[in-house]
Amino acid sequence: MLVIEGKAKILVENAFYNPRMRFCRDLDMLVFSTIGKHEILDALSATGVRGIRAILEAGCEVKFNDADPKAVETIKKNLRLNEIEAEVFCSDASLLMRVKKFEHIDLDPFGSPGNFIESACVHAKLLSVTATDLEALCCKSSAGIRKYSAFVTKTDVPHEIGLRVLIGFIARTALRFDKAIYPLVAWVKEHYYRVHLRLKRSNSETTKTIEKLGYIAFCRSCFAKKILKFGECVEFCRCGKKMQIIGPLWIGELKDSEFVGKMISKAEGKHREFLLKIREEVEYPLAYSLPKICSVLSRSVPPTMEVVEKLRSRGFIASPAHYCGYCVKTDADLENIVDIIST
Ligand code: SAH
Repeated sequence: MLVIEGKAKILVENAFYNPRMRFCRDLDMLVFSTIGKHEILDALSATGVRGIRAILEAGCEVKFNDADPKAVETIKKNLRLNEIEAEVFCSDASLLMRVKKFEHIDLDPFGSPGNFIESACVHAKLLSVTATDLEALCCKSSAGIRKYSAFVTKTDVPHEIGLRVLIGFIARTALRFDKAIYPLVAWVKEHYYRVHLRLKRSNSETTKTIEKLGYIAFCRSCFAKKILKFGECVEFCRCGKKMQIIGPLWIGELKDSEFVGKMISKAEGKHREFLLKIREEVEYPLAYSLPKICSVLSRSVPPTMEVVEKLRSRGFIASPAHYCGYCVKTDADLENIVDIIST
């Protein structure tokens, strides 16, 4: 079967192709072209759709790889079909990333990217990662420990936690190679998370990355949350219950606002709308689900923007979350949100 996606014509035989990821790949093209002309390894290529689009739409120089020889045949056919020439490897991605240097590595696996991150951190200066194993990132503690060496439990805002556990894992891995990380843009959509970030080798800058790692203390009775840096502790919530400690995770920024601004200037339609929501989000690692809080209070759920405005008028930073229409991101503590809902 032949599929047209963006400027690419793609044969989807003998290799995995997911049409539902088109929106993600559309946004990726904006990311790649905003970075400017550079070299990318599409480390888990399947049909090669992402890399081929990066060549045709973002002017990048792309190398392809897939461990499956059948997928490699399909990638080669697709390159010919689009009249482009590029190097194609048939290797285990982790081995390849260790022995060869690539400026930018794109990891778009099925399921967990966990096992590929370490090798990707050795040489790359830019890293793009997809994760579809959301349970391990945001709610299932045994899977979280196995895949990301982090404790997770289901909260009222699983995606805020999940995205931060993923970035936290990348940061902790990068730190082992004395590298600092700087997220360019990260998002949650449907069944996946996607993160684009810069890696920089610098001893002094690793300190900044370490400061952006920590934990979130969470109360499963009232949904209160508190950020904890390394070495800090909390035992009891103000409601009297014990808090659970989630993490380690990333408590730093999820985006570079200037970078997202440049992406927005190239974007149209639904992509632009989505990016505007991302830009509007406040840079604070805590979020709250209004319906969950209201169910504890037995109150009806107020409009999200009404709560956001009231928090702002009290001097807090607040915004909706791009991944959820009824979640609020804010530096206000739960008491303020409860007070606003109750009055
Ligand atoms: N990035 C693709 C989808 C990739 S699906 C897209 O945008 O459409 C994941 C691919 O990774 C499969 O083709 C599979 O053969 C390949 N793969 C799995 N494990 C691998 C490994 N260790 N090294 C290289 N390729 C691998």
